[in-house]
Amino acid sequence: NAGVRLHGVRKTYGDGTVALDDVSLSVPPGRFVSLIGPSGCGKSTLLRLVAGLEAQDHGQVSVHGVSPEDACAAKLIGLVPQTPALLPWLDVLRNVTLPRRMNRRAAARRAEIAGVEARAVLQEPDMLSLLARAGLAEAVHRLPSQLSGGMQQRVAIVRAFGLRPDVLLMDEPFSALDEFTREALQEQLLDLWDELQTTVLFVTHSIQEAVRLSDTVVVMAPDPGRVVDVIDIDLPRPRG
Ligand code: ADP
Ligand code: ADP
Repeated sequence: NAGVRLHGVRKTYGDGTVALDDVSLSVPPGRFVSLIGPSGCGKSTLLRLVAGLEAQDHGQVSVHGVSPEDACAAKLIGLVPQTPALLPWLDVLRNVTLPRRMNRRAAARRAEIAGVEARAVLQEPDMLSLLARAGLAEAVHRLPSQLSGGMQQRVAIVRAFGLRPDVLLMDEPFSALDEFTREALQEQLLDLWDELQTTVLFVTHSIQEAVRLSDTVVVMAPDPGRVVDVIDIDLPRPRG
């Protein structure tokens, strides 16, 4: 029961929009999965369900066999949202090391109860070197309001990397970045994936990016949001 699993999941929003209908997906540990499809097909909703930020009205979602809430509390999950959620009163370094300082005992306890191993997040010197590799060396003591949108996004990505999560969820993390930064961070993402055997769920609107980075592409369609194809990049599945 390791990895990420959705079984028969439906998500209806308050206004009656069926964002996901009968979605089943099994992502084995260590896979890099891209979610692609037109706007409104439920990619972000799927990610938010796995992150425990939304609840489905039907079906099951599990991460390493436990609920998304428990997995989050045990720090198994790192999330890069579509727009970076940085704390405005903390400088860059404090923002990226925040998960380390927050609730460590509570996290360990939740992990123990859920029967999973809580993860050790990166120490400050390692965080500084990650920030430098993301081109943020000069910015470590600046506040988010003193950064461009692209820089804020890089900080959010570094924070998630620094968690060294088992499951990394990313919602179009690179779309707002210039091409140089995008390439550099894509390389870092692949390094991290290699090193940690992280399971990655990656939402993108770029088919090229999906094919380049991931080993599985999940194709979704809207009205209602659903999975229409799962394509294995290295081993094309027989169709028919
Ligand atoms: P995608 O990420 O593929 O663009 P979303 O998951 O954002 O798709 O949205 C799927 C569907 O759910 C869309 O029709 C969208 O308008 C709707 N939706 C998303 N979030 C909400 C919300 N908070 N309230 C109501 N409808 C929503
Ligand atoms: P994406 O489709 O890539 O998720 P959107 O711009 O559609 O991006 O959504 C951005 C935010 O707006 C999300 O938090 C989503 O929940 C919310 N949202 C999207 N569609 C609706 C909707 N129809 N009603 C209310 N909130 C929505």
